[in-house]
Formats: sequence, C-alpha cells, structure tokens
Amino acid sequence: MTIQEFSDIFETLAPSSIAWKNDNVGLQIGRPEAAVRNILVTLDVTAECILEAKRIGASLIVAHHPLLFHPQRSITDRTRVGSLSLALAEERIALFAAHTNLDSVPWGVNGALSMALGLQTPSILSPLSGSLEKIVVYVPADHADSVAEAMYAEGAGMFARYDRCSFRSAGMGTFRGKNGAKPFIGTPGSDERVEETRIEMMCETWRTPSVVRGMLAAHPYEEAAYDVVPLANAHGEYGLGMIGTLPKPMSAKAFLARVKRALKTPALRYTPGDGPVRTVAVCGGSGESVIGDALRRGADALVTADLKYHTFQEHQGRLLLVDAGHYETERLVLPVLAGALREALRQRSYRGSVIVTRTSPNPVFYHT
Ligand SMILES: [Zn+2]
Repeated sequence: MTIQEFSDIFETLAPSSIAWKNDNVGLQIGRPEAAVRNILVTLDVTAECILEAKRIGASLIVAHHPLLFHPQRSITDRTRVGSLSLALAEERIALFAAHTNLDSVPWGVNGALSMALGLQTPSILSPLSGSLEKIVVYVPADHADSVAEAMYAEGAGMFARYDRCSFRSAGMGTFRGKNGAKPFIGTPGSDERVEETRIEMMCETWRTPSVVRGMLAAHPYEEAAYDVVPLANAHGEYGLGMIGTLPKPMSAKAFLARVKRALKTPALRYTPGDGPVRTVAVCGGSGESVIGDALRRGADALVTADLKYHTFQEHQGRLLLVDAGHYETERLVLPVLAGALREALRQRSYRGSVIVTRTSPNPVFYHT
C-alpha cells in the first residue's frame, strides 16, 4: 500500500472536506508513492515519537494535531516544527494529520470521549453546516432511472440511514435547437415538447463535482438542464461535540469523580451548574465554541478543555463546565483510530501493523 492509497482510504473514514476551512489535514510530509510499512498513531509528533516510529519500523505517523499548521518561512533546527520536520524527512517517515475531520466524525474524538463517560444515545452536538447541496436535473422520463443510478453511484441521495433517496415529479420540458445543435429529440429549428422527470437529490458538497460529472455522462441531452442549490440544512452525521445522557442522574460531585476516573486525570478545573447531572455534552480539545449549543440542547454539564477564567465566570450556576485537559480529552481517540484503521486497511489486504504510541506528548503537568 502506498501513502496515496492510505490517504484515499482515510477519506472514506473521516473526509478532509469536513475539517475546518483553516485547518491543515492530510499528508504533511512524505511522498505519496512511498510504501506504507507499519503505522504509528499519536496525538502529537515529538522527537520521542519519531524515535519510537523508527524502532517499530513505521514509515507513516498519523497524528491528530497537524505539525505544519502555520506557514513556515524556513525549515531549520531553530524551531520545534522545523527540527521535527527535518527529522521526519531524514528518517523517511511520512506524516499524515487527522485533525478537525477526526473531531467531526461520530466515531472520532468526541465519540471516544462520550463512550468513556458512558453516555447513552449520543448524537452530534453542533451539526456541520454548509456541507449539503441539492442537485436538481430534468431528464426525459424514460431516462430518469439510468440518470438517477449514475448519481447514486457517485454518492448523491444519501440521507442519514437511507440511501438512493430522490424526489421525482413529472412535467413538460420545451426547447428549440439552434443551427448546429444536435438535439437528442426532434430537429433543430422546431419547437419541441418532451415529457420530462425532475429529479432532486441531496448531496454532500464534496461529492457534487463527481455526481454532476456522472449525471452529465448518463444524461442523453446535448445540453442537460440542472441546478446545484446550496442548503441551509445541517449535516446530521458530522459535526463538533456529542451530547448524550447518563444511565441515571448523579450529583455534580459524583459526575466529576466519574470524569476523573474515565480520563485518568489527577485534577479537573470546573465551575458548578445548577443541579444534578443527566444530560452531558462533550467536546475534546478546545470546546469553547460549543457552549451555546450545549445550553440550547439542555445539557447539565459540558466536558471540554482550554477554558478561560471569564468563560467559567460567564456560565457559573448555569452549566457544570468542566475543563478536563486538552490531552486528556483527546487521547482516548487513539485506540479507536487505530482500530478503525486496522479494520479499513485489513479489507485492502494491508499486512503491516497499526500501533498506538507509548510516548506521552502532553506538555502540561500537574503538581498535586
Ligand atoms: Zn486537540
């Protein structure tokens, strides 16, 4: 398997298109045609992590945090990023980043966190917006099925737990071919009327180009009429954070103890809410942006990290706001990610190993 093939497989697990616009995910260092031997999975790239990759014969590191995030003017030993980049290149170890796309898939960072806390019926807390379009095409009635099949084949018409979804209505199409036109029906220069089917399908924005290509290839007309319409609907399957319920309500004190145990952390920063905890929202890493959604969705508690003093102040008495540490809320995804990769790669006859790092890149320590 090459690194390019690995990237293509990863797209099916956590599409890069669902990452934040300003994020930097995918292959960061390495040659797409190089072979993947073993794979090391980590939250961050560190010097120890590169040594570990070398020791286990890994030619690819999959990291949650992108090493190359801000544009670099030079790659030298003078900076952490430069020095690590040089070491990776010298050791011929490729680096692949799975950041906010891994945050936004239900099985990713937040799925792992909600599972660790024992949340039931978890769903996405802040569904992804701006990721859906509707494709509308007008087809001669007897070609409706073949054009729809071509669109399904490229991924249009998927809706939550359903696929092959379309809406079809019958109507009359009219046209007149000018000189030089080669109409599929009728002759140039004369008014034509054709029984047509209007097909509508929902489509994820990143699939639209290939759906339109497939649709045009299957469409019998010389010039097919179609619309691509952006939708304000949120994507139900992707987005930041998760929300779910505890098996039974518990006191804030008992809930904090549960978080400490699940995350194996010696300390938590928090501000109290206003009662027992039942509905819980989680967002691994920096989840300040989802506090509004947690309140709107009726959460009693939000477990996240990187919260500021004034954020605690703002929500004191309204929501049990827990800062459980950036590293602590994200590291749970590593075994889940490794498992998902093993499963996906096994189906492509990949023989190497996928190993979770034994190093701890957490730069934050607790003095207790
Ligand atoms: Zn993070």
